[in-house]
Amino acid sequence: MNNDYMRQYVQLSKKSAWQAPTDDIEAMYALIETMKADGGAEAKSVLWLACKWLGLHKSAYDFYPAIDAPKDRKQQRKLLELKEKAATDGDDFAVKPRRPLAGGGGQTDGSGSPTFRYFPDPLGNGALAKAEEGEEIICPCCGKATEYYYAAIPYCRENVENLCPACIASGAAAKKFDCAFVQGGESVSNAERQKELFERTPGYISWQGEYWLAHCDDYMEYLGEAGTKELKEAGIFDEVIAEYATHNEYDAEGLGELLVAGGSVTGYLFRCLHCGTCRIWVDAD
Ligand SMILES: [Zn+2]
Ligand SMILES: [Zn+2]
Repeated sequence: MNNDYMRQYVQLSKKSAWQAPTDDIEAMYALIETMKADGGAEAKSVLWLACKWLGLHKSAYDFYPAIDAPKDRKQQRKLLELKEKAATDGDDFAVKPRRPLAGGGGQTDGSGSPTFRYFPDPLGNGALAKAEEGEEIICPCCGKATEYYYAAIPYCRENVENLCPACIASGAAAKKFDCAFVQGGESVSNAERQKELFERTPGYISWQGEYWLAHCDDYMEYLGEAGTKELKEAGIFDEVIAEYATHNEYDAEGLGELLVAGGSVTGYLFRCLHCGTCRIWVDAD
């Protein structure tokens, strides 16, 4: 096959997206942008596959090229499954690219909003919220109006609301209010990494407070809530549950029956920034 896009796609998608190194996830997102800009037949024939691999079901269905219309029943059934997932899950359960915040210096992405090394999608999680049309939110740290604000309350004596992402990312808010954003977590040896997590990363929305997992002596990135359904779809159910069962009271079988994303027993899914290993923390209301 003389399709360079297909070669790159095959190269990057050897593992499931949930287990792939972060660099490969970012490379796949970059490849998608390149193929979108290209728009040719070869690009189109690979574009939907790349979206599907990342869990962008809606995009995959939207980009499914008419020319590849299924020719047999098996392919038809697969396309129907994709259509259903596009309708139920949309792009919500996709593996997101990491947007690193090197050194926690308050770097920004292209849109000018700060990014967090350990929390790629705080907006999707609901930890950050967007001001309504016409609503003016003032950050109590910098005193400026902000489009996005922290929807939770940091751990501190004062009641601090509506912090802007930039004041969290730079550490200014933690310093000014002597607060932390994350309740607890495993330990890592590097003090700078500890500071980056507790003082410069928004906490995630949870039942009983955040508990941030670590791997390869660094904090993992928080990907979002996951239940049995999502873990099985991602192909990581067995390993994630087995790992959890080694140091917690649940037996693997019982936990699998209870675990529902957003349910009363929910899983918080983390991925190692260094080796791609996924782990889960379980919380109940
Ligand atoms: Zn601010
Ligand atoms: Zn690791």
